[in-house]
Amino acid sequence: MTSHAHAPLAGNVFVVAAPSGGGKSSLVASLLASDPAIQLSVSCTTREPRPGEQDGREYRFVSREAFEQMREQGELLEWAKVHGNYYGTPRRWILDAAARGVDVILEIDWQGARQVRQQFPAAVGIFIVPPSIDVLEQRLNSRGQDSPQVIARRLLAAGSEIAHAPEFEYVIINQDFSVALEEMRTVVRASRLRYANQSARHTELFTQLGIQASDNS
Ligand code: 5GP
Repeated sequence: MTSHAHAPLAGNVFVVAAPSGGGKSSLVASLLASDPAIQLSVSCTTREPRPGEQDGREYRFVSREAFEQMREQGELLEWAKVHGNYYGTPRRWILDAAARGVDVILEIDWQGARQVRQQFPAAVGIFIVPPSIDVLEQRLNSRGQDSPQVIARRLLAAGSEIAHAPEFEYVIINQDFSVALEEMRTVVRASRLRYANQSARHTELFTQLGIQASDNS
């Protein structure tokens, strides 16, 4: 983890967190499908792939040794231990994308979100919550991909993840999927209109209009 902040970038960095079962992955998948200007950061993890998951798509599945090596060589923008496994965001890809003005979205936990915020103060934090604890439990059960022990552990962990919601700028209550998706799109749209983003994207216009360059993004 480094503590210095990067210069303002033309692209937005969105950090989406939620307790597992909050519906985060489906929302992000739909957002990505409808907005080609946003790219998903593919994390590395030491956990086993779930049925249907493909290496390089949902995650890069790596050994503990490989993960530790990446971490030691400073290749991870952030990393955390979640539910007993290690997860981390590759640094280079994010920096390249953001510098090119591409918006990136990170689906990570609150610990990772904190580390990203230190490095990208303009990162936009979005926290997704279920409409109730009962719904959360139902969603975890009906996913059918994890053992009962894993589900029980995740329910417990959900409480501690939710406790960090106040650290995020936006909260989306995922009761109705299409409403939640529209709300996420609204956050994305508004973020793109922030002064720092607009001035980085439209330098010529800003110069023409005599708008003073600002570095307090
Ligand atoms: P899952 O194993 O269900 O895919 O993810 C478990 C948790 O790890 C989720 O809260 C997910 O957001 C988080 N996570 C996934 N990738 C990363 C990452 O690169 N960094 C951090 N800090 N958390 C991650």
